[in-house]
Amino acid sequence: MNATSKRIMIYIGVLLIFTLIILLMTFFQKDPNTPNTEETITQSKYEGVDIVTDVTYDDYRSAIHYPAFEIAELDDEIASYVQETKDNFFADLEDKDPEWLEKRSASFSLSFDIFPIQDNLYSIVFYKDTYLGGANMQQESKVYLVDLENGQFIKQNEIIANTKENKDQLYDQLKQAFIQSEDYQDFFFEEELHKWFYDESTPFSNMYIEEDQLVFIFNEYQVTAGAAGRPVIRIPLNDIKGIISKEWKDKLKIEEEESEEQEKPTEPEDDESEGKGDATESKIPDDAKKVAITFDDGPHPENTLEILDILDQYEMKATFFMLGSRVDFYPDIAREVAKRGHEIGNHTWHHKDLTTVGKAKIKEEVQSTADVIKEATGEAPTAFRPPYGAINDEIRSVVDLDSTLWTIDTEDWKSHDPDAILQMVKDTIEDGSIILMHDIHSTTVDGFKKVAAYLKQEGYYAVTVSQLNE
Ligand code: ZN
Repeated sequence: MNATSKRIMIYIGVLLIFTLIILLMTFFQKDPNTPNTEETITQSKYEGVDIVTDVTYDDYRSAIHYPAFEIAELDDEIASYVQETKDNFFADLEDKDPEWLEKRSASFSLSFDIFPIQDNLYSIVFYKDTYLGGANMQQESKVYLVDLENGQFIKQNEIIANTKENKDQLYDQLKQAFIQSEDYQDFFFEEELHKWFYDESTPFSNMYIEEDQLVFIFNEYQVTAGAAGRPVIRIPLNDIKGIISKEWKDKLKIEEEESEEQEKPTEPEDDESEGKGDATESKIPDDAKKVAITFDDGPHPENTLEILDILDQYEMKATFFMLGSRVDFYPDIAREVAKRGHEIGNHTWHHKDLTTVGKAKIKEEVQSTADVIKEATGEAPTAFRPPYGAINDEIRSVVDLDSTLWTIDTEDWKSHDPDAILQMVKDTIEDGSIILMHDIHSTTVDGFKKVAAYLKQEGYYAVTVSQLNE
């Protein structure tokens, strides 16, 4: 081998070693254990279920929440139930003498709870609260049991093995529960319960399963006097094992295990090395014009994330007044909002007008929301906005945080028009403005793109409401 070919061999050797190193690097980069920078967002904590929220502020107030499954048979039925309740409300509102509603606006609230039974099986319980004048709310409820795997509703009478003895035994349990309940015993109408229970046309239509209990929810006045509200009776499944149908014993794994352990919510991991409360403050000159942009009624699995990207693009910080009911569905979205350095505010669980519900309910609405936000993000909310901006001394006495209202209402929920949203901001913007928008509407995302560009062009800095108050 001459000197030249020796040199060539060395070159080839070096080249081979480099290629090998590059190959090895590529291989290790593809290692699935290497953390991926792109965060994956789960659609909803409840697989295959989304939540739709529809809030209206007008001469009446309405907040409607319902689940969507992307299964036509289920969604159509739920949509027609929602539409029917809305139509009834508007028909009743039309008939009312406006004088009845001078002191307090009419309101309509439709909310729901979702209870996982087993994989792909859920209990959905709707609560309808209507106010149309007079002293009281009208309360009703409606139960659906859904089977997402087969895309169908479950009839309650499939759960109980249908024999006369079983029915009698269940009736007796139910009756005893009313008689022994301190909340309901004084208001209980046994005859009405008997009539309802043995009515073949509505077999257990208001019965559902929550964890290891069989639950019955009744409408106001259905089997009790009005003072009992919307009674709820719970019977442990273990006490009525014998009357559950074979199919449902299997589904509920009743004999194998004593009771189903509820899955514990996982604590948010502490990988908050990036992003928190960064940059913005330090970059803002003392004499800068500042505004607070606020987004209410979310989080939303797509719109909120798009808004976060626009905020990053313009180096803005915002405040998101979230509904507990929606954080419960999308904890990952709430967590992402916090991670990117924005403020999270408490906007209650159900978006009810808090001036109408009483102290105990106010506490429950606010506390449950604070809890679910803390569970999702690791931190309790640092601002509070009452639904519809409706505030009074009773609310102030119960809620620790100050109420943050707004100075510019973009009416995005009404116009659904990006240009109209921008125009509302242009008309009244000034140093210290608090802008109200809603991240549950996709048209608001487009409107906010325009608003963000306009604010930047006009030299405004966007900060959180807490920073604005500093
Ligand atoms: Zn709201």
